[in-house]
Amino acid sequence: MFSRLKELVCSLKPCGQVLLYHRVAPTLSDPQLLAVSPLCFAEQMAYIRRNAVPMALTDMVRAANEGTLPRRAVAVTFDDGYADNYHYAKPVLESAGVPATVFAVSSAVSAQTEFWWDAIERALLGQNGSLTLRLDLAGESRTWALSGDPGAFQDWTVLDPFDPTPRHTAYREIMPLVKPLTPSERSTVLTSIQNQTGVDTGPTDDRRPMTERELRSLVENGLIDVGAHTVSHPQLSGLTMEEQSVQVSASRRDLETLLGRQVTTFAYPYGTKVDYTAKSVDLVRHAGFTLACSNFPGQVLNRRVDAFEVPRYLVRESPLSTFRANFEARMHGAK
Ligand SMILES: [Zn+2]
Repeated sequence: MFSRLKELVCSLKPCGQVLLYHRVAPTLSDPQLLAVSPLCFAEQMAYIRRNAVPMALTDMVRAANEGTLPRRAVAVTFDDGYADNYHYAKPVLESAGVPATVFAVSSAVSAQTEFWWDAIERALLGQNGSLTLRLDLAGESRTWALSGDPGAFQDWTVLDPFDPTPRHTAYREIMPLVKPLTPSERSTVLTSIQNQTGVDTGPTDDRRPMTERELRSLVENGLIDVGAHTVSHPQLSGLTMEEQSVQVSASRRDLETLLGRQVTTFAYPYGTKVDYTAKSVDLVRHAGFTLACSNFPGQVLNRRVDAFEVPRYLVRESPLSTFRANFEARMHGAK
């Protein structure tokens, strides 16, 4: 009864939703469920073009603050700054006339370094054969017996309840151990993994971040904006204030220098409530940003949005019918 009442009230008042994507690309394996296929993305953008009011993220948050948010407002965002955002998502956004904001990791763009989660996936699941992997993590030495052929299980994701090979088990266990490391600790572990597995370093063509030239070209026609997503994608809550300050401010400064324009938006890496703190929010607010995005679900409501913790709905590959059902349920306050 109460939820039906809430649905009715929500259907009458203006509310918006911010969609969160990472990659738009055809993929063979995607264990973290980061990619949406280009066809699926095109269907989703056509749907919101026809059935909602696509807005730039900054316009949506400003309208919500002013109490002028239209009904069925939607903003599209991407985290990390993968090159496929430029090659696959940009043409779709342009043809549908849907604005978007891409939150880029500044050092990944400038140094063309692979994202750590992709490097570990490639080392553990992109190869077969047996070896013992030994890593020093959080002061503890641990070993994993890698074996099996992950190539036979490319549909596997971390949501699956079973690990088809010991390599998958190692991947599942190592990822959460690496996530909270500082950038320098993480770099040491990655080098160790790469040395022991013999995998070559550097990003592969289908998983690389955008180049500087691509990022500049991305914003050229004004439909797509770039925001900051730190220098090297750490979990901010595990860093000192000084380290956080560098991650927040230097990413803005470097992207502004690269693009020759102001960068006013920010997204917290990983973005859930445990991944940053109230002090991180203060730092972002005082670094000159006008808004910051989190990664937990929630509607954007007139005069009730926290501009420095804007909620977002994570979008995954799905049939259009599922996207539509989720989208409409959220518009009516049911999710
Ligand atoms: Zn990210």
